[in-house]
Amino acid sequence: MRLSKSLIPTLKETPAEAQIASHRLMLRAGMIRQMASGIYAWLPTGLRVLSKISQIVREEQDAIGAQELLMPTIQSADLWRESGRYDAYGKEMLRITDRHDRELLYGPTNEEMITAIVRDSTKSYRDLPQLAYHIQWKFRDEVRPRFGVLRGREFLMKDSYSFDLDYEGAVAVYKKTMLSYMRTFQRIGITAIPMRADTGQIGGDLSHEFHILAPTGESGVFYDAAFEAGDAIGVTDVDAFYDQVTTIYAATDEKHDTAVWDEIPEDRRREGRGIEVGQIFYFGKKYSEAMGFAVTGPDGQKIYPEMGSYGIGVSRLVGAIIEARHDEAGIIWPDAVAPFRAAILNLRQGDAVTDALCERLYAALGADALYDDREERAGAKFAEADLMGHPWQIIVGPRGAANGQVELKRRATGERFELSVEEALAKVQG
Ligand code: ATP
Ligand code: MG
Repeated sequence: MRLSKSLIPTLKETPAEAQIASHRLMLRAGMIRQMASGIYAWLPTGLRVLSKISQIVREEQDAIGAQELLMPTIQSADLWRESGRYDAYGKEMLRITDRHDRELLYGPTNEEMITAIVRDSTKSYRDLPQLAYHIQWKFRDEVRPRFGVLRGREFLMKDSYSFDLDYEGAVAVYKKTMLSYMRTFQRIGITAIPMRADTGQIGGDLSHEFHILAPTGESGVFYDAAFEAGDAIGVTDVDAFYDQVTTIYAATDEKHDTAVWDEIPEDRRREGRGIEVGQIFYFGKKYSEAMGFAVTGPDGQKIYPEMGSYGIGVSRLVGAIIEARHDEAGIIWPDAVAPFRAAILNLRQGDAVTDALCERLYAALGADALYDDREERAGAKFAEADLMGHPWQIIVGPRGAANGQVELKRRATGERFELSVEEALAKVQG
């Protein structure tokens, strides 16, 4: 993308309404614009990050055999009456009436809808287990939308749902999902800690939340320092991983259990703040029974499926990653989700040799590069590249260009390298 022609409305001033770094930086970097309280437009660079995160989430869901589908954002109130949650959900649910006076709602989650779909598509125990997900916008009319996309009203979530014949099957898919979440966060380039959690609105008896540690997090968290060391990650066997996670202790303030805490050596006890980026629930037959979903078992008896649901806050992750990875100058994107792998900074726009070299780099890097081809001071280009947080900056000035040399800067470390064009390309693409 050529910066001179792109819709990336960066801001020099700090927006007054933004209280925390990620919100400020997303506005300043031109990633989002607020359209109404808690409702955002995702501008080109913001959307690129959102899409890259979604794609990693998708690949890791596919890897555990979850099937992607797409359910609508608008749901019928009657569906929610079947589970009894229509009245129970309260004011967070955005209720809508259509021209025929039918009651609709903008879905805050999809347990009812997926249960209806699977119920109407399966008959026999042979049709189970099922595991399906979608990545879709949700709406929750939060009392206090704040911190930009961290607590919006409209937000993007990956939600998956499992249907099993028995408890063992349900717990196996719960554990498998938990491990796949760890892989997902690892691929994104952040550390998220699985914590024992309360089940809230969804209901049920087994739940974990995944938290990114950040001082601005809304939840108080208690955890074993072993998590910081990544001791529970890298385990590939599902059961071994789950045993690790449950022996190493981490919990949110609601589930903090001092008895367990006391067993952890004092020098390994940590207290901090966390941003919830995912939550998983096992809730048994709660919805299948309420909504009359049973399959016929091998000897003709009715089996009400055991269910679980599993969420990742895709749009919240964008803000949470920035909370965990920024400095005074701006965002520091992990390579895997950066809007662009590299920015090409032309320090002498209009100089034939410099322009030609920049064009060569831009042609080689293609869609993964943002070419700053504006008639701007070098200082302004450096500041904006640091703000937007591209993992690499390829700095091209007339003196170097005359010798086919460029300067390559790594945003995360500040390291600089004097390289030939080929060497720079190899490093950026490698
Ligand atoms: P919270 O406690 O932060 O309100 P929740 O527990 O109500 O979240 P879940 O029902 O567990 O949310 O939804 C799954 C995921 O969706 C959460 O882990 C979070 O990452 C994301 N999420 C929930 N509410 C919001 C919101 N208002 N804005 C952005 N993301 C959200
Ligand atoms: Mg939650």
